[in-house]
Amino acid sequence: MCQYDTTGIQYACGHYQVTTLDRKHDCGSRYCVKSVNHPRECRSFDCIQHFGPDLNQRTSISTAYCTVCQNAFFNHLPASRSRR
Ligand SMILES: [Zn+2]
Ligand SMILES: [Zn+2]
Ligand SMILES: [Zn+2]
Repeated sequence: MCQYDTTGIQYACGHYQVTTLDRKHDCGSRYCVKSVNHPRECRSFDCIQHFGPDLNQRTSISTAYCTVCQNAFFNHLPASRSRR
């Protein structure tokens, strides 16, 4: 099963967001659709269909909330709603 090294941000709201896929670790298996050795014409669902969990995660900690939570928060402020 192929895996990635990733870089991501851990936000104060508890969400983790992957920002970059740094490096692919190819497992080289013929039975893994993500591998370069997997035959392109193979449509078997017995083959591994997904990437494995990230191999190495480089994490930077942010004191801010992620964009989704920020938007959710500001959309619920009465002040910002009347400004629109
Ligand atoms: Zn693989
Ligand atoms: Zn296959
Ligand atoms: Zn969040």
